[in-house]
Amino acid sequence: MMTAVREVSVFGDAIAYFNEAAELLDLNPGIRRLLTKPSRQIIFSIPFQRDNGELEVFTGYRVQYNFARGPAKGGIRFHPGVTLDEVTALAFWMTWKCAVVDLPFGGGKGGVTCDPTTLSRGELERITRRYAAELVEVVGPDKDVPAPDVGTTPQIMAWFMDTYSMHVRQHVPGVVTGKPLEIGGSRGRVEATGRGVSLVALAQMRRMGIAPQGATVVVQGFGNVGSVAAKMFVDAGARVVAISDVTGAYHNEAGLDIPGAIAYAQEHHSLDGYRGGERITNEALLALACDVIVPAALEKQFTIGNAAAVRAKLIVEGANGPTTPEADHIFNQRGIIVIPDIVANAGGVTVSYFEWAQDRAGYFWKESEVNERLADVMLENFGKVSDLATMRAVPLRTAAYMVAIDRVVQSMNTRGVYA
Ligand code: NAD
Repeated sequence: MMTAVREVSVFGDAIAYFNEAAELLDLNPGIRRLLTKPSRQIIFSIPFQRDNGELEVFTGYRVQYNFARGPAKGGIRFHPGVTLDEVTALAFWMTWKCAVVDLPFGGGKGGVTCDPTTLSRGELERITRRYAAELVEVVGPDKDVPAPDVGTTPQIMAWFMDTYSMHVRQHVPGVVTGKPLEIGGSRGRVEATGRGVSLVALAQMRRMGIAPQGATVVVQGFGNVGSVAAKMFVDAGARVVAISDVTGAYHNEAGLDIPGAIAYAQEHHSLDGYRGGERITNEALLALACDVIVPAALEKQFTIGNAAAVRAKLIVEGANGPTTPEADHIFNQRGIIVIPDIVANAGGVTVSYFEWAQDRAGYFWKESEVNERLADVMLENFGKVSDLATMRAVPLRTAAYMVAIDRVVQSMNTRGVYA
């Protein structure tokens, strides 16, 4: 269905959030100017051969937004909607996300404008290898460390790592994270983002006096992040009453069988045809009365057009940028608490950091150790954000940006700007 939407760039929205926090931090104007520009944007063509022999050309991107705290870090997205604007916004968010959980990384992101669902395994491998080959000079464990994002998988990271290693003539597992375990992946990485989402959600629910037992949860997007978060909520005693994916939304007020839905989605590659709940529209899902809603699909899901209809008490942003600034303003006015993306979904990059550290040490941790350290990082930094929000009487999003910007600026000031 076509709806009239205000055409504003994703990066424009991202900058709006940054500006709100920057005002409260009294930043040096030059530093502020520098922080609103990406360090490096790379656009290139990816020629590849279709299985039928035809030569096709896609466009690839890598944006390295900021290096003040360490190598750039951020995923690679394979999706038809990938644009330079979107990749830049995602790289910008990665800068604050890494800083807000205190990782020694800057921010980066990459993507290829393609629809991976229409590509064979061989086509995906060829695109990935050509994408990696184009970036050999500018990525590396001390330069820029990609990871999976929408439409990319551990297998794609394995091809990336192999291509890079072939080019530089040595084994470099730390060039990407989110790899399969047998080639230097970390235990717990696949579940890390969803686990982190549920950890901070449960911490905030405690603060709000919402007991997990019997709490109602709605999850939009049933991929890596959404399905794992849903499972963790169920494990904590909550009732997941609605889920959705690109094929539609499914609702059951008594609580959906989440392990069953995960098995169904794995077998059928989507929830299409899932019978565990009543079929509803995506708009209806976003407006369900519930304690917690987790957007875990794509950006710009909560807009000025639907924010007034949202009936959740708490929004936990599993996806990057699911709330437009206008919608965020409405939520603040209505007293709906939002745990912002840069904190809520930082579990993935945190375990990516653990993976990078393990790869470089050549020494691998037990899953319980990974999960314990993940909980420490997430809860300690969420606590800092939450305390600052209370102290300065600002929303969690503003507080999260303030913590992150302050950390990046401190690093920039200590290093000095090479100008
Ligand atoms: P994924 O590709 O595994 O899953 C995305 C899911 O969203 C799929 O189920 C898809 O069908 C669904 N979807 C797409 N469009 C939809 C729509 N209009 N309505 C409802 N559902 C829709 O991706 P993922 O890794 O789970 O990532 C989801 C979000 O989380 C993205 O915004 C991503 O940037 C963010 N994120 C992911 C990670 C990670 O570690 N995977 C980390 C941080 C943030």
